Amino acid sequence: MSAASARPQGFSFTEGVRLASGRGRTGVIRTPHGDIATPAFVVVGTKATVKAVLAESVAAVGAQAVLANAYHLYLQPGSDIVDAAGGLGAFMNWPGPTFTDSGGFQVMSLGVGFKKVLAMDAAAAARAGDADHATAPGRERLARVDEDGVTFTSHLNGDRHRFTPEVSMRVQHELGADVIFAFDELTTLAHSRGYQEESLSRTQSWARRCLAAHGELTASAPGRPYQALFGVVQGAQYEDLRRRACRELAAMEVDGRRFDGFGIGGALEKENLGTIVGWCADELPSDRPRHLLGISEPEDLFAAVAAGADTFDCVNPSRVARNSAIYTADGRYNLLTAANRRAFVPLEDGCDCYTCAHYTRAYLHHLFKAKEMLAATLATIHNERFTVRLVDDMRAAIESGEFGALRTEFLGRFHAARRLIPSSGQGM
Ligand SMILES: [Zn+2]
Repeated sequence: MSAASARPQGFSFTEGVRLASGRGRTGVIRTPHGDIATPAFVVVGTKATVKAVLAESVAAVGAQAVLANAYHLYLQPGSDIVDAAGGLGAFMNWPGPTFTDSGGFQVMSLGVGFKKVLAMDAAAAARAGDADHATAPGRERLARVDEDGVTFTSHLNGDRHRFTPEVSMRVQHELGADVIFAFDELTTLAHSRGYQEESLSRTQSWARRCLAAHGELTASAPGRPYQALFGVVQGAQYEDLRRRACRELAAMEVDGRRFDGFGIGGALEKENLGTIVGWCADELPSDRPRHLLGISEPEDLFAAVAAGADTFDCVNPSRVARNSAIYTADGRYNLLTAANRRAFVPLEDGCDCYTCAHYTRAYLHHLFKAKEMLAATLATIHNERFTVRLVDDMRAAIESGEFGALRTEFLGRFHAARRLIPSSGQGM
């Protein structure tokens, strides 16, 4: 079968407008469950739920797609259950496009004890010492990587499990998301250059195995909606490794099947994020979409969009919402501060979300103080709307030729306010 005739049904990417300066662009990703206008922020529903909010609310904040996690759903309730329910979207009552990440991040990050957030910054790397074999203080090593896959211990009950590229593909096919990711090895900035090279060659060989397994699974179930497979670019902060990884993944082909898009993963220093995404955008083919895994801070989103990333996901907007931290154009603040006790105003002036239309800072301050569940629901709706809308505004600004102006104006205001209100950084 030729590559052309193996072109997937129901999935495509069409590039729209490109930035005059830089690599940023608009586009449309077409999936069997609907289109995604890019750039777009994909809302995270780790365990097949965006924590604390109904699927209807996820739609109301303007989310075009939801990303769930293969590792968590494999352990609980089991990917076979999700399959029997008709796939992730049907199971969680989300009719639109869905993504699952490969499970690699969780298998390795929960396993080796980095907790939920990797040591992505240089300072943490320096503290980590012999990071090639590091575990977080007080944590046992719960995952072991070998050439064939990863053996790990469930964080739920201590059971032993094994993920290989083939297992990840089977699990993600059972989960049935429209976009799935190749199983890759996670590294951090703390790993040595030598380990990064060794890990990257393992990730590339796993990518080839994922393509092969994906091809077989797709061919064995011709009636199912097509699932697009994205290869994941690793290589940490090294330009030569990142560029090589991109070229190899772009050219990789097994039985006429290629990656439908790409994920940019792994260790990124915040200040180098745009540079690294730019290297990848240079090397990756422009006719396939690029997803940047795990970012949502406004300055990161602007840098990534400018550098040519199309979609993004992050748990952060909902996670910090549950800790009473609220994003606004004037920076982030915490609802628990005493100033909000009698603030009978919306969470953010001019916000078009459901929470801001109906509730006040004073009411949410009360709900958080009283530890009422509705606090998390209402705060999450606002933060997700803020993040989705920000990326939507970037898309509109690329189309109207005003992206640079939007970036300067937005970040100037966001950071100016942050400097004036030191407490706005609380709530992580
Ligand atoms: Zn709002």
